[in-house]
Parts: sequence; C-alpha cells; structure tokens
Amino acid sequence: ALKCGIVGLPNVGKSTLFNCLSNSKAQSANFPFCTIEPNVGTISVPDNRLVELEKLVNPERVIPTTMEIVDIAGLVKGASKGEGLGNQFLANIRETDAIIHVLRCFQDDNIVHVDGSVDPIRDKEVIDTELQLKDLETIEKRIQALSRVVKSGDKDAVKSMALAERIKAHLEQGKNIRGMEFEETEEPFVREFQLITSKPVLYLCNVDESSVKTGNEFVEKVKEAVKDEHAEVLVIGAKIEADITELDTYEERKMFLDELRLEEPGVNRLIRSAYKLLDLQTYFTAGVKEVRAWTIKKGWTAPQAAGVIHTDFEKGFIRAEVMKYDDFIELGSEAKVKEVGKMKVEGKEYIVHDGDIMHFRFNV
Ligand code: GDP
Repeated sequence: ALKCGIVGLPNVGKSTLFNCLSNSKAQSANFPFCTIEPNVGTISVPDNRLVELEKLVNPERVIPTTMEIVDIAGLVKGASKGEGLGNQFLANIRETDAIIHVLRCFQDDNIVHVDGSVDPIRDKEVIDTELQLKDLETIEKRIQALSRVVKSGDKDAVKSMALAERIKAHLEQGKNIRGMEFEETEEPFVREFQLITSKPVLYLCNVDESSVKTGNEFVEKVKEAVKDEHAEVLVIGAKIEADITELDTYEERKMFLDELRLEEPGVNRLIRSAYKLLDLQTYFTAGVKEVRAWTIKKGWTAPQAAGVIHTDFEKGFIRAEVMKYDDFIELGSEAKVKEVGKMKVEGKEYIVHDGDIMHFRFNV
C-alpha cells in the first residue's frame, strides 16, 4: 500500500493529527478504520461518489479505498548524525511515498517549543536540513559504489554517476531534490537513489481554532517561503480536529462543525490532499454485493487495475466493461447506460481513468 509519512519537529501537533486521522469516529460510520501498529494507520479515503453509488446500487456493503499514514516522531536537530532516535526514523521516512510536513503555526505558552519560540520557517529549515544531510550521505555512498563500476565503462553507471554528482551539488547548496529538473530518461535513475527530499511534500500549518478559516501571519510566512516548491499548503487546527474526534455521533460533529462554520473535518481535506500527493486515482466496482473504491496510479492499464483486486484478474484478463461514473449517475442504471451505448468494452491497452466503473472478464 502507498504510504504518507508525517514529519515535523516535536510538539508541533503530529501525533494529535495522527490520532484524529486514525480515529474511526472522525469519519462517517461506513468508513472503517484499523490500526496495524501504534504509529502506522490505515485510513479510508472519503469519497462522496461512494455515497451516490450506494444510493443507486443499494449494495450489501460499501468499501472505501485506503492508504497508510505513518507518524514519524523523533526528528530533531542532529537526527542525521544519529541524535536521539533520529537515524532510525529517517529510515522510516525513506519507506514512504510522500511526506506531510507539519509546521507549528499556533501560539500557546503552555506548549513548549523545542527552540523557544514559534517560527515555522526556521522549523521547516531544521527538518529540511536533516533530510538533506541524510540524502547527501546516501548519494555519497552511491558515488563511491558507482566509481568502481564506471571504470568498467558501463554506460548506465556513467549516466548514473553524472546524475549523482549533480544531485550532490544541489544538496550541498541546501536545496531539496524535488526542486530539481530532470530529463524523462533520468527519472528512473533518480527514483533508484531513493532520496527523501525527492518525495512529494505537502505543508500542513497547524493553527489555533480562531485561525482555521482565516489563516494567520505564520501561515502567510509559510506560503511565501514555499512558493517556488509547487507544494500545497493546508491550514488545519489539530486541536479542534481532536475535539471533533471526541464527539460520539454524526449529529454532534455536524453541530460542532456548523458552529465553526466548517463544511467538513479538516482531516478529510488532509486525506484527499495526501491522496492527490501520492498521484493516485480511484476506480469503482459496483455490484449488488459490494460497491467498492480501488486505488491505482495514473496511467495504469485495465489489466494492471484488475490486478489490484486479484493477481489472477490481471493474469487472466480478457476484457473490461467500462462506464463513466457521471454517465451512471445521470442515467440512473446500468441498463440505461447500455441502451444509449455508453457502456464500452475495452481491451488490454485501455488506460483506466479516475471515476471509471469497471467490470472485468477474465479466465481462471
Ligand atoms: P508532536 O510531538 O508533534 O507529535 O505533537 P503533539 O501532537 O503531541 O502535540 C504537542 C502538544 O501540543 C499537545 O499537548 C497538543 O495538545 C498540543 N497541540 C497540538 N496542536 C495544537 C493546536 O493546534 N493548538 C494548541 N494550542 N495546542 C496544540
């Protein structure tokens, strides 16, 4: 499964957020949640299309798609040099596919800041520096290993080496790799290096209750500081999210949200943004037994998409019947979709799109 890691300095609100995300009550009743490990949560991705499909199909059950969130605590200044439990946690970040970087944008004298004052830009730089130092260590090791292979004249090694040197120089300027431009042919090599600062990131400004709708001066500073990174900046109040999570019923939560003039819990926005960050798409299967959302990557073919359900579906793939979510909702039934010729039969080459409702035919 694809994983999002939550990073940030201590006391910025990471575990508060993680707990909100991993609490089933924060999500609607038919979106289950399960925890695997204390710091790894599988969370359901809220999708209103499932609600609409449920109304039309009336299935026995509805199953949303999921992704994993990992709370990566213990990142402090010096982590890359093994300060605290730093190094171990850096290894955890390497295994994630995208990063949620939490920045403290709330004033609260009762909550100690590790560096004495609230300054999200300084905090961001502390974390970035640790991650860059770790990447530098990684790339230096690679350069060392490659230098032996390069002598043998291996073409890929030569190319990889040149790239590694460029990456090293970039890191030495205190910059993240995600800001670098690469040729398409270089991208597989870059991925192979598994650099932490090449992972897509979203910045989450954790603000006070009073700033959730409006933002505040800290948020403005963050937006200004990251404007060249093409990264999303989300404003969320972790503490009120935790309060929402405490409420038992949907009605209570709705009332609370209304009072704050919020349409939905911030965690829902966060989950959707993280899903986008991972470059994921959703297709559906819609039968009377089960309406279900499935996660695929952009550009996947029909057999690959079928493989998410079962590897046999991919191996034995014959064809797929496909209708568009919008057509199904508009026309109201599968029969009607067929009648107007909008149910398509697609083969192995078909690229699945977000919102496709798929029915697979396969050999066993
Ligand atoms: P972590 O170390 O980054 O995981 O931070 P925690 O989630 O444990 O939060 C540290 C402390 O800050 C806890 O006492 C939280 O209740 C508090 N906290 C978290 N978010 C907010 C917030 O938005 N506003 C305020 N005032 N306190 C918060």
